[in-house]
Amino acid sequence: MSKQKKFILQESEIPTQWYNIQADMPTKPMPPIHPATKQPLGVDDLAHIFPRECCVQELDTEHRWIDIPEEVLEKYKFYRSTPLVRAYALEEALGTPAHIYFKNESTNPLGSHKINSAIPQCYYAKQEGTTNVTTETGAGQWGAALSYAAKIYGLDCAVYQVKITMQQKPYRSSIMRTFGAVVEGSPSMSTRAGKDILTKDPTHSGSLGTAISEAVELATTTPNCKYTLGSVLNHVGLHQTIIGLEAEKQMEMAGEYPDIVIACFGGGSNFGGIAFPFMRHNLCDGKKTEFIAAEPDSCPKLTRGQFRYDFGDEAGYTPLLPMFTLGHNFKPSNIHAGGLRYHGAGMIVSQLLKDGLMRGVDIPQLETFEAGMLFARTEGIIPAPESCHAIAATIREAKKCKETGEEKVILFNLSGHGLIDMPSYDSFIKGDLQNYTVTDEMIAANLAELDKQ
Ligand SMILES: *Cc1c(COP(=O)(O)O)cnc(C)c1O
Repeated sequence: MSKQKKFILQESEIPTQWYNIQADMPTKPMPPIHPATKQPLGVDDLAHIFPRECCVQELDTEHRWIDIPEEVLEKYKFYRSTPLVRAYALEEALGTPAHIYFKNESTNPLGSHKINSAIPQCYYAKQEGTTNVTTETGAGQWGAALSYAAKIYGLDCAVYQVKITMQQKPYRSSIMRTFGAVVEGSPSMSTRAGKDILTKDPTHSGSLGTAISEAVELATTTPNCKYTLGSVLNHVGLHQTIIGLEAEKQMEMAGEYPDIVIACFGGGSNFGGIAFPFMRHNLCDGKKTEFIAAEPDSCPKLTRGQFRYDFGDEAGYTPLLPMFTLGHNFKPSNIHAGGLRYHGAGMIVSQLLKDGLMRGVDIPQLETFEAGMLFARTEGIIPAPESCHAIAATIREAKKCKETGEEKVILFNLSGHGLIDMPSYDSFIKGDLQNYTVTDEMIAANLAELDKQ
């Protein structure tokens, strides 16, 4: 029999519930707290900013399964299920005995997993009578996904895009405008937060932190406008579990179960999406799968950050979140994986990391592009620079298997394609990219600033 390459679910087999790992966590995440009163925030507090149903999901530590609304499932079917693929060609190039699988979340028209949460967030916003949504975007994938989801539910959408990535990836702004969104480079002069940042540093190239500050400000000063977030928060990770739940069924079709699950890490949504459904079998059924989150070594919050309460944004407009963080004032280097330039890790993932249920690895920029090039040349898909981190971590594990002769089953999430990121590949091919290092002193100095506030 010839070897099966792809495992595909019929539409009728797409899961109809998301998995809420909070119900099964040995230690529940600590609550978000109010920056001034330090009191835990409830649904009503958060619902000023976010759609209410998302806030309910955010704080739900009881219900293991959450129904996906029928109207959301219908939109999921525009592009789901996504394929699970056995990377035979990559395995062969590496000469590894490992079995490498990837879940291909790049096959939707927006090109990344972000749409899995954009659709339900806009659906809930619309249900609640919201007319406008706003957000920040780094590399532009979240902004693109939200612009599309807003359009299908008839919402107006304003996106603050990190200035540096607007220059690195100009076509993402074009995609957002095509779907009818208004796009501003952040820091901008259109908000108080943006003006303050530019006054202090006129050459500020922006970060997810600056863009979040601006979007939150717009949401809280515009009637009927809700802020949406593409990562970090618990409800975003919840929506993304559709990835891992599909993958679980598909791995079963392949007759295997992963020894290692890997994803790249910005705020944790695609990692949580693929990892949590498998992690439930570690928590509940005694499985021993290893979970690896791959972050840039220039933004190493998982491996070198501190677990503490910190703001989710640069200006300090968000609630305080319990997270592994480099400090909300951390200015990441201008690496091309724009979606991974974020100072903190989501609350659930931070708690799981603290409890030793997963680990982080740091990857230098050049290694990520080398991995992406090899993947493109073997499997024929040009991965997003973010996803290259997952591929690089996978290659490290596959090489270890080559040394030990172990036939481990490795599953990684291909969070997006890189077809809008070709200027980054051009720079790599020309030899213009570099690695960046962050010293312990830089991190310590940054965290010390937080204690002064
Ligand atoms: C946004 C993004 C990421 C990082 O975000 P997470 O929430 O950590 O998943 C990774 N890959 C791609 C393609 C992205 O668009």
